Amino acid sequence: MKTIGLLGGMSWESTVSYYRAINSGIKDQLGGFHSAKLALYSVDFAEIETLQSRGDWQQAGVILAQAAQAVEAAGADFFLIGTNTMHKVAAQAEAAVSIPLLHIADATAAQLKADGVERVGLLGTRFTMQQDFYKGRLTDKHGIRVLVPDENAQDVIHRVIYEELCQGKISDSSRQAYVKIIEDLSAGGAQAVILGCTEIALLVSQSDTAIPLYDTTAIHATAAVKLALA
Ligand code: GLU
Repeated sequence: MKTIGLLGGMSWESTVSYYRAINSGIKDQLGGFHSAKLALYSVDFAEIETLQSRGDWQQAGVILAQAAQAVEAAGADFFLIGTNTMHKVAAQAEAAVSIPLLHIADATAAQLKADGVERVGLLGTRFTMQQDFYKGRLTDKHGIRVLVPDENAQDVIHRVIYEELCQGKISDSSRQAYVKIIEDLSAGGAQAVILGCTEIALLVSQSDTAIPLYDTTAIHATAAVKLALA
C-alpha cells in the first residue's frame, strides 16, 4: 500500500470527512484491521482564510508548498489538497516536491466522464465558481461544460461555506437554499451538480434531491484509495 499525503485543515471539518472516507475505503478493499497509511499536514485555516480574502495567493501557495514538503518528508508517495479552492495554488505546491498531486478536479472529471455527464452545475466558493483554475480545467482538459449559479446565488453559497460549514454549523434553511440553487442549475440544463467545496456534503446529500450530485470529497478520497492500492 502506498502512503497518502493529505494537506488538510481547509477546513478541518472536511478533513474529518476525508480521514473517515479514506480509511473506510481501505478497509472496504482489504478488510480486517486494515487502515490507510496516511501523512496528514493540517494547516491553521484562519491563516489561509485571511490570505484568501486579502488576495495574497502567493503566500497561501508558500504555506501549501511547505505542507507538501512535510508530507513528502513523512513518507507520502503522492498527495492530495483537501479543498477545491486551494487548488488555485496547486502548481506552487506541486513544484515544491517530487511526489505527484492527485488533483481534485481531475478525479471529479474522471467520474463525470465515466457517467456520461457533459454539462454540469458547479457549487463552491466564489473563487471556485468564478475563476478558471477549476472550471477552466474541467472544460479545457476534460471537455466538460460548466454552469454556475447567478451572482445572488453565488453569494449565498459562498457565505454559507465560510460563515457556517467551515465553522461546523449546519442549518436547515441553508440546506433548502442550496437545494433550490441545485434545482435551478438543473432547470438551466445541468445534468448533474458538483459539490465543489469539500464541506458541502456536510449540508446536502443525495437524499435531498433527485439531481445527481458529485461530492468532491468522496470522489477525491475514493481516487486516493484506488491509487494507494494500485
Ligand atoms: N473546503 C472548501 C473548498 O473545497 C473551502 C475552504 C477553502 O477555502 O479551502 O473549496
